[in-house]
Amino acid sequence: MGKMYAAILDEPMSIGIKQIDIPVPKDHEALIKVYCIGVCGSDVHYYEHGRIGRYIVREPIVLGHEVSGEVVAVGKHVKNILVGDRVAVEPGATCGCCEYCKTGRYNLCEEVVFLATPPVNGAWAEYITVSSDLLFKLPQGMSFETGAMLEPLSVGFHAMQRGGAKPFDRLLVTGLGPIGLLAGQAAKLFGISEIYGTDVVPYRRKLALEMGFTAALDPSSENVAQRLNELTDGGGITLVVETSGNARAMADTIKLVRRGGRIVFVGLPAMDAVPMDMGAFIDAEIDAFGIFRYANTYPAAIHALQRSTVDIEKIITHRYALADIREAVETARTQKDTSIKVMIYPSLSL
Ligand SMILES: [Zn+2]
Ligand SMILES: [Zn+2]
Repeated sequence: MGKMYAAILDEPMSIGIKQIDIPVPKDHEALIKVYCIGVCGSDVHYYEHGRIGRYIVREPIVLGHEVSGEVVAVGKHVKNILVGDRVAVEPGATCGCCEYCKTGRYNLCEEVVFLATPPVNGAWAEYITVSSDLLFKLPQGMSFETGAMLEPLSVGFHAMQRGGAKPFDRLLVTGLGPIGLLAGQAAKLFGISEIYGTDVVPYRRKLALEMGFTAALDPSSENVAQRLNELTDGGGITLVVETSGNARAMADTIKLVRRGGRIVFVGLPAMDAVPMDMGAFIDAEIDAFGIFRYANTYPAAIHALQRSTVDIEKIITHRYALADIREAVETARTQKDTSIKVMIYPSLSL
């Protein structure tokens, strides 16, 4: 058995590179040589606080779940991919037997095993083993970076699916971090062309405009409701995707969507109870949706991306070798305004 390098989080704020065994694929698994992995907000949260809600880091863990790479070995029952294939990895393995799994809403499966969610190890390593049904072949010309970012893109894609996105929707995305920016790109894949965004951070608004948002507004200095009314010629916003998790922004969505509109809530608030004007919500007959990860997005997103001009790589602001994991995570932790997506490359020599 060979050895490989992996980034191990021992306890909050303590991460380092160690040598561990290269995992051996089981019959239904493939061994993936990891090309690149994104740093997600959840990874940074585990690094900083050692827990997210009921998921607690109790023993050393490898983080990272936004991953792509090359298949270097397959178990004997693997039929859907071959050694040499470039693949994206869907990070959640589900039971396949429960009602949620059987009805296509497998993201709600109670038995889900998700990469980099304690106690399951993630992919900040040179190699990982993955069940072959979670591997999706990248078409020629699609980069490993795009492959890795199919994971956060999937959240936006799922928001579009849940919110019933239509090409003629007038969309507002609140919060222009990686999920918000990618929700805007997912919207384009659904044929939406009128895409507004709000964020208090100037850099994020600038990036949104570079990524094809129609307008990006500053809720700290502009009257967003009035501006959106002007920008849509009085038509109003038909679909809101809330990604900030900011309690005020969540409550404001009811004021920013037009009567009969839809709101998709993606961002998790820091507190459990967020005050909402339910009278206005009922009076305007608003539809609201919650989003937990995603389901059935990888094949559809790959297909749509391959045939579009949408470029999701634009959200990558920093790139690091695996050896520089500490710097990478600290960049994501301390420079939240300007580090949109930090990408790690175990494929670069250590
Ligand atoms: Zn993520
Ligand atoms: Zn299940």
